[in-house]
Amino acid sequence: MRRWNGWGDDATSMDLNTGARAMMVQRLGPGQPGRDATREDMLAQLPPSRLMGAHALIRTDAATRFAMALGESYADWIRKRFGALPPVPDGVAYVESSEQVRELLDLANARNWIVIPFAGGTSVSGHLDCPISQRPILSLNLSRMSQLLHLDKQSQLATFGAGTPGPLVEAQLRAHGYTLGHFPQSFEYSTVGGWVVTRSSGQQSLRYGRIEQLFAGGRLETPIGTLSMPTLPAASAGPDLRELVMGSEGRFGVLTEATVRVTPQPEHESFHAIFLPDWHTAEAAVRKLVQRKLPLSMLRLSNGIETETNLTLAGHSRLIGWLERYLALRGCGHGKCMLMLGVSADRRSARHALREARRTLGEFGAVYIGTAMGSKWAANRFKGPYLRNTLWDAGYSVDTIETAVDWPQVSPLMQAMEQAARDVFADYGERVHAFTHLSHLYPQGSSIYSQFVWATAPGGFAPNFKRWQRLKAAVAATIAAHGGTVSHQHGVGRDQAAHLQDEKGPLGIATLAGLCRHFDPNKIMNPGKLLQDEGPWAS
Ligand SMILES: Cc1cc2nc3c(=O)[nH]c(=O)nc-3n(C[C@H](O)[C@H](O)[C@H](O)COP(=O)(O)OP(=O)(O)OC[C@H]3O[C@@H](n4cnc5c(N)ncnc54)[C@H](O)[C@@H]3O)c2cc1C
Repeated sequence: MRRWNGWGDDATSMDLNTGARAMMVQRLGPGQPGRDATREDMLAQLPPSRLMGAHALIRTDAATRFAMALGESYADWIRKRFGALPPVPDGVAYVESSEQVRELLDLANARNWIVIPFAGGTSVSGHLDCPISQRPILSLNLSRMSQLLHLDKQSQLATFGAGTPGPLVEAQLRAHGYTLGHFPQSFEYSTVGGWVVTRSSGQQSLRYGRIEQLFAGGRLETPIGTLSMPTLPAASAGPDLRELVMGSEGRFGVLTEATVRVTPQPEHESFHAIFLPDWHTAEAAVRKLVQRKLPLSMLRLSNGIETETNLTLAGHSRLIGWLERYLALRGCGHGKCMLMLGVSADRRSARHALREARRTLGEFGAVYIGTAMGSKWAANRFKGPYLRNTLWDAGYSVDTIETAVDWPQVSPLMQAMEQAARDVFADYGERVHAFTHLSHLYPQGSSIYSQFVWATAPGGFAPNFKRWQRLKAAVAATIAAHGGTVSHQHGVGRDQAAHLQDEKGPLGIATLAGLCRHFDPNKIMNPGKLLQDEGPWAS
C-alpha cells in the first residue's frame, strides 16, 4: 500500500548502512528523530466538506479528501510528519472518462468551485496545494483513466488514458513489444498526463527524448470546451497547440487522453560505470561526448561529493576500498567523479556507441570499470527516494533542487547552488550535505540536480518550514543570477511561481495569464500554480 506520510510502497524500504550513518554524523552531527503525527491525528483536523451531496461522483469522506491534499515536496512531507494540516479538497471525484471530466468541469464552472486535477500525486513543487478559499475545492482523481486505448503500430503511436502510471504504461506496451522509454525517478506512481503537463524528463531522455518529444497529441477538457490536438508527423500550420498544454500544470483544463510516440523494445540495454579524475576534466569529457551525438541512452555525471556519497551508500566497504585504491593508481583519486553511461539500441549500434564513447572518454583519463555498478544502479533506479524515509527516521531531512543552463554556466552555477545552501544553514549555525549530478545532457548545456541533506531541526513544523523556505529562495536566486531555468523537469507549481517572472519577463507572464483567462474565465483551474494569482496559503 502507498505510504501516507513518505515516499513509496510501505512494504519497501532502503537501508542506511553503517558507513553512510557515520558519514551523516560526521558531516551533519547526530540526527534527532522526532515523533511523527499519526494519520488519525491528521484526519481528526479535517473541516467538514462543502461539497457534501453535490454530485454522485464526488466522495467527501475524510480519508479520501486527505489523501488528495498534498504531493511529495519537502513542505508537503513535513506537514504530514508534523501534523500541520493545510486546507484539503472538499471532495474527490474518481473520474473514468472524458465525458465525466466534462460534466464535472461544467458543474464546477457553474457553481464556482476550484478544480485541482490529481494524477500520480508525485509533484515536488506544490502543484497540488489547496488555497485558503471561500470556494469549495474539488479534486479530480485521474487514476481510473489508466488504459492503453489505442496502438497504431505503423505510426508507432500509443494513446493512453492520462492517469496511466509508469509501470502500467510500460507493461501495456511491453505486451506488444514496445516501450515509451520515459523513466522519471517517480516512475512507480507518476502518470503520462502528469508528465505532459509538467514537462517531465526521464532518465533515458538522451535516447527517447523528454516528454515534449514524445507527446504527439491528445484531448484537453477545458472549462470553455474540448481542445483536440491531432497527431501529425510534422506541421507548419502556425503555433503548435501541444506546446500550450505541455507545462500547463492543470491551469487550462484536464488532459484526459495522451498519444505518445513509442519505440520497439531495444535489443540491447546496458549501463556502465566510468570514473574521471576530477570535476573540471569530467565536465569537459561529457560535453565532448554529448556533442558527438552518439546513440547513447543516458549520461549521468556525479560531482566529487556525490561520487563519495554514492560509494559510501553502496555498502560493501572492503570491495569499495579495493576499487578506490585501483582507481587512485589509475589517476582517479580524491575528487574523482563517477559517470553512469547507458546504451539502449540494437546490438551492433550499441557496440559501436560504447566503443566510441570509451574512446572519447579515454582522451580525458577515464577509467572504465564495467557493468557491475551500472546493473546495480539499473536494478535500484527507482528506489533512491525510499532513502528519504530512512533518513527521516534517523533525524535527517532531504530535498532536491534542479535547473538547466548553457555550458559556460554549468560549473559556476553548480558550485554556487551548493554554496548558497551552505550559507543558509551556516546562518543557523548548522551544516548541510550538498552534492550534485548532471543527469540530462544536451549539446547546448545540461540540467543540474542538487541534493541537500541536513539535520531536521527540533521544534516541529515552523522552524523546519522556515529553513526550507530560505533554502529554496537562496538557491532560486542563485539560479536566476546565473541565467538558469526555474525548473528543468519538476515544473513550477506554487513553490517556484514567484521566480517565473525572472525567466519569462513581464510580457511572457502576461501572455500566460491571458491564456489562463481565455481557457478558464472563472479561474477555477488549479489557481495559484504556475502564476502567483491566488492565495492566501497555509503557512
Ligand atoms: C521521488 C521523486 C522523483 C522524481 N523524479 C522525477 C524525474 O526524474 N523527472 C521528472 O520529470 N520529474 C520527477 N519528479 C517530479 C514528478 O514526478 C513529475 O512532476 C511528474 O510529472 C508528476 O506527475 P504526476 O502524475 O504525479 O502528477 P501530479 O503530481 O498528480 O500533478 C502534477 C500537476 O499536474 C496537474 N495534472 C496532473 N495530471 C493532469 C492532467 N491529466 N491534466 C491536467 N492537469 C494534470 C496537477 O493538477 C498538478 O498541478 C519526481 C518526484 C518525486 C517525488
